[in-house]
Amino acid sequence: MLVLVINCGSSSVKYNLIETSDGSDLCKGMIERIGAVTSIVKHQPTGKKQIKDTRVITNHTDALQEIMNYLLSPDSEIISSPSDIKAVGHRVVHGGEMFKDSVLIDDDVTEAIQQAFDLAPLHNPPNLKGIQAAKEHLPNVPHVAVFDTAFHHSLPAHAYLYGIPNRLYRRYKIRKYGFHGTSHYYVSRQYYKICNKPVDQTKVVTCHLGNGASIAAIKGGKSIDTSMGFTPLSGIVMGTRSGDLDPSILFYIMEKEEIPMNSLHALLNRHSGLLGLSGYASDMRDLIEEANNGDRRCQQAIDVFCYKIKQHIGTYTATMNGCDAILFTAGIGENSSLIRKQSVAEMDYFGIEIDDERNENVKPGEITKISTDSSRTDIYVVPTNEELVIAIDTAKIAQAKSQSPWV
Ligand code: ADP
Repeated sequence: MLVLVINCGSSSVKYNLIETSDGSDLCKGMIERIGAVTSIVKHQPTGKKQIKDTRVITNHTDALQEIMNYLLSPDSEIISSPSDIKAVGHRVVHGGEMFKDSVLIDDDVTEAIQQAFDLAPLHNPPNLKGIQAAKEHLPNVPHVAVFDTAFHHSLPAHAYLYGIPNRLYRRYKIRKYGFHGTSHYYVSRQYYKICNKPVDQTKVVTCHLGNGASIAAIKGGKSIDTSMGFTPLSGIVMGTRSGDLDPSILFYIMEKEEIPMNSLHALLNRHSGLLGLSGYASDMRDLIEEANNGDRRCQQAIDVFCYKIKQHIGTYTATMNGCDAILFTAGIGENSSLIRKQSVAEMDYFGIEIDDERNENVKPGEITKISTDSSRTDIYVVPTNEELVIAIDTAKIAQAKSQSPWV
C-alpha cells in the first residue's frame, strides 16, 4: 500500500512516500521555515538527485500543496493521481494516557489530540495542523495518528509516577509518558530478528541519540522505563534541551535572573543542553570538531552527554536485572564512534566491552555489532526508521477499515 507519512513541526513539514509491501521509500522531503519570508523546500526522490529550492509558503496547507504538486508533477514521475496514495500516516508526539496504539483519525481523535495540547504545546498543535492540511488535500483516504508515546504505555506505575501528591496525577495526568516510541520499537524489533532468543526473554537498552535523545529499557519486548518523561524535556542532555535537573534550579533561576515562565521555558528547551554547555553549538559534529581543536567547553559538553548515557545504561541494567544488548541509533548513535565508545567506556563490571575496530568500521545504514565476542552484553548500531513504523501501522489500520463491514 502506498502511504504518505507526514511529520509536522511548528515551521516544518517532513514527508515520506512509502510502499509498505516492501518498505521502500519512493520519495522523501522537507519544507522548512514555513511562514518566514522564504521557505526552504527539499525533495529527495529515491535514487535521483535532490531538488532544493526556495518558495513563499505561509502555512501548513500551502506546504502540503507544495508536496502534492511535487509528487504529481510529470517531471518527478512519482505518482500520476492523488488516488495512488491509499492512506496518510501522521506522527503525533503526545497521545496522553488515552492512546495505547495508533488510531484512525476521526472527530473524537482530533479532539483528544487537541486536549493534549497542554501536555505538548510545542508539538501537538503543529501535528494537528498537519492532519487538517493533509485532510484538505487527501479527503478520501484514511488518516492515521501514530503516537510517540504509545510504545511506552507498558511502563509500570512505579516507573511512571513522580514523587508528587497523587491527586496531581489523578487530576492533571502528571506522569512519565516517554517519547521516540516508534524508534525504540523499531530498533528493538530489528534486534529481535538477529538475537536468537525468544523475545519474552530479552532485555535491551535502546539509545536514540539525535537532536532530541532518549534511552529506553525494553524487557520482553515491552518498554518498562525511559528517560524522557512528562514532556520531551527530561532525561539525558540533548542538543538544546537541558534534560533532568533538580527542580529547585527552576525557582532559583527565575528569582536570580528575574525572568518569567515563558523565558524559562525557552531557556530550558532552546538554549540549554549541548548548546548551553558548550556556548558554541548543538550539533555534535561541530562540538567534536571544536573539542579536537582544544575547546574545553565543547569537550565538557561531550563528556556530560556521554556520562548521562552511561548512567542510564547502568540504571536500566539494574532495572531489568541484566542487559542482553545495547542498541545505538539516530544521527549521533548511528554516526559517531567517539560518542558510542565514550558512553560505554569502563563498563566491564557489567560485561560490556566495545570492539574499537568494529566500532570504527560501521557502514551507514547497516545493522552492525560493535561489541567484542567476549562481551556479555552485545552492542549494536541499528539504523532507525520511524517513518516505516508509521507507514506500516497506517497501512494495517487502513486495511482493517476497508475490510470492516461497519464503515
Ligand atoms: P533529529 O531527527 O532529532 O533532528 P538526528 O537523528 O538527525 O536528529 O541527529 C542529529 C544529530 O546527529 C546532530 O547532533 C548531528 O551532529 C549528529 N550527527 C550526524 N552525523 C554525525 C557524525 N558523523 N558524527 C557525529 N554526530 C553526527
